[in-house]
Amino acid sequence: MKDSHAFPMPAFIPPDRTDPFVLYQSTLLSTYAERVIHGFTGKPITLGGQSFPAEEVRANRLAVCRHAGMDDARLTLPRQTHTDRFRLNDLPCKDETDAVILTEPGIPAMVQVADCVPVILYEPDRHIGAVIHAGWRGTAKAITQKAAQRLINEHSARPEKLLAAIGPSIGGCCYEVSEEVAAEVANSIPEQPESLYQHRRESGKPYVDLQQVNRLQLQALGIGQIERIEACTRCQPDYLWSHRRGEAGRQVAFLQLRHPGR
Ligand SMILES: [Zn+2]
Repeated sequence: MKDSHAFPMPAFIPPDRTDPFVLYQSTLLSTYAERVIHGFTGKPITLGGQSFPAEEVRANRLAVCRHAGMDDARLTLPRQTHTDRFRLNDLPCKDETDAVILTEPGIPAMVQVADCVPVILYEPDRHIGAVIHAGWRGTAKAITQKAAQRLINEHSARPEKLLAAIGPSIGGCCYEVSEEVAAEVANSIPEQPESLYQHRRESGKPYVDLQQVNRLQLQALGIGQIERIEACTRCQPDYLWSHRRGEAGRQVAFLQLRHPGR
């Protein structure tokens, strides 16, 4: 089992201090930049958070869309409540959902996070993808695995072709949880590697690595091309919002499929 929990993929692209936000991009997904628009934003702007004026948040979302070249008129945002449900493209959906499955080009999708794990999936042969919000509850419900499963089962994605980018979230270095939470999260994966819970400190409480758990959920489906963007939201106050640090701002993961030939 040596190194079986290391991420063997190429190092992620260092964050870019664009105007008006920090932008993290995946090396894997950037290989397909002519076909998909993707990214994980950072400070200083907020893309959500109830203590900020709705107008400001809306303007910031538009700024991200324009910066990335996405069509803000079709922006689709799930109503996130730590579920394991998805919405499909920009179809009307009255359910609360925590991921968007994209099968049609031209629709930008965003999920907001501030410690929770953002995941982007893309299958280049089928030209479909998903953007997912997985906090500890979503992770315990295996939302990332379910989204990938749905791409495979209902939209003919092949596991060996699927690419996954796991974006900035609170790391195993900082995510202290209760024994109950650790156990619920652990139940979402078949094996329990030591590295998921290695950061025990004087508190005696578990420190969980949610990025690794999401990765193991994907690996259980035979998905091998997985990249983790190694940035802990709590350790990087200059770049990223962190709920655990007491901040109210939010960053987003975004994805849009481009129209072929455009
Ligand atoms: Zn940390």
